[in-house]
Amino acid sequence: MAVSRFNRILLKLSGEVLMGQGQFGIDPATCDRVAGEVAAAKEAGHELCLVVGGGNIFRGLAGAAKGFDRASADYMGMLATVMNALAVQNSLERIGVDTRVQSAIPMASVCEPYIRRRAERHLEKGRVVIFAAGTGNPFFTTDTGAALRAAEMRCDALFKGTSVDGVYDADPKKVPDATRYNTLSFDRVLGDNLKVMDAAAVSLCRDNDIPIVVFNIRDEGNLAAVLRGEGTSTIVQN
Ligand code: UDP
Repeated sequence: MAVSRFNRILLKLSGEVLMGQGQFGIDPATCDRVAGEVAAAKEAGHELCLVVGGGNIFRGLAGAAKGFDRASADYMGMLATVMNALAVQNSLERIGVDTRVQSAIPMASVCEPYIRRRAERHLEKGRVVIFAAGTGNPFFTTDTGAALRAAEMRCDALFKGTSVDGVYDADPKKVPDATRYNTLSFDRVLGDNLKVMDAAAVSLCRDNDIPIVVFNIRDEGNLAAVLRGEGTSTIVQN
């Protein structure tokens, strides 16, 4: 399956991607760079929705380990994703990309609530829709939120932007001759517990036949290149 056949894509950005070289929070220059990647993909004619994580600010599990009630900590994590969504929206609008943020937790004075049919309309009008607050439920992750929204919006693929250029048979940062997979099956990812996305997200994509494309979002121009079928990535598919 050629990557370039993917017209409507959902791009999942983990919170870590927005930290840049920092250890915490949002790096504006990194946000601008990621926005540039999105703008280039849009200019190439693709429809894009984004799901942003929150791990650069707050993770529910880490909060629970420090004594917060897990559900409350997860809501805090979801609120962190809204901050990231607004940051990415700012960066995109500064370079002339029309956007809307929709949150799974309604907060009327900050952004739109998530309404699938309205999101669809935004995409038709050429806007980039940024989905915030994950699924809106504690005990889930934004990976699962991304798979869910990709299915709801009938995306052709879920693109997972990371700091490596695909899925390897060992950690390429520790094992120099680790080999990258070009393609992988969903069953292999689940069976071998390969770290692509969490299992709930992977099985949702498998059941709805939505390929997951793992690629490096840190390389300039890479999202558009992977969409043209030129860049390096791993495609997980049925
Ligand atoms: N979260 C949640 N439900 C969701 C999505 C996210 O409770 O549907 C919370 C959860 O606490 C998670 C945090 O939001 O740790 C931030 O999301 P995530 O860890 O997925 O962000 P990422 O790792 O992608 O930066």
